[in-house]
Amino acid sequence: MRETLVLNASFEPLATVSLRRAVVLVMQDKAVVEHAHPGLRIRAASVDVPVPRVIRLSRYVRVPFRRQASWSRRGVLARDQHRCAYCGKRAMTVDHVLPRSHGGGDTWLNTVASCAEDNHRKADRTPEQAGMRLLRRPFVPTPADALVSALGVSARDELPEWLGALPA
Ligand SMILES: [Zn+2]
Repeated sequence: MRETLVLNASFEPLATVSLRRAVVLVMQDKAVVEHAHPGLRIRAASVDVPVPRVIRLSRYVRVPFRRQASWSRRGVLARDQHRCAYCGKRAMTVDHVLPRSHGGGDTWLNTVASCAEDNHRKADRTPEQAGMRLLRRPFVPTPADALVSALGVSARDELPEWLGALPA
């Protein structure tokens, strides 16, 4: 996957994001293209943008340079793209894999997005006790993931398929 470098408004490098995310940021006027692949453009009905190598955010974003993004319910839902870790349907709640009543904490590795139904069904049990299986393992998001969610680019903002077919 082609990666694009993201600079803060102050020109300091922040992270790399996928080309798709970079194009979304430019299309949403959240970033401008600083450096593009020569001669390559993404063209479609209402879109005509250069293929960005480097973009710069339109507004300065204060990014805490922690080794880890700090945990939040919103962050867990964004990390899991609002998909339930047990059934894959739309998730609005956060489930503690090891329940808090069993000592499970508010950490990236112990929490997953969950639909209300599965969260209720699992209740105060571990997935094993409830006979439920995690579709994917929870993970600690990278600073780039945290930046992308801070910028408000959600999975629903992903570009349509035709933009995936870019010239090599
Ligand atoms: Zn579910």
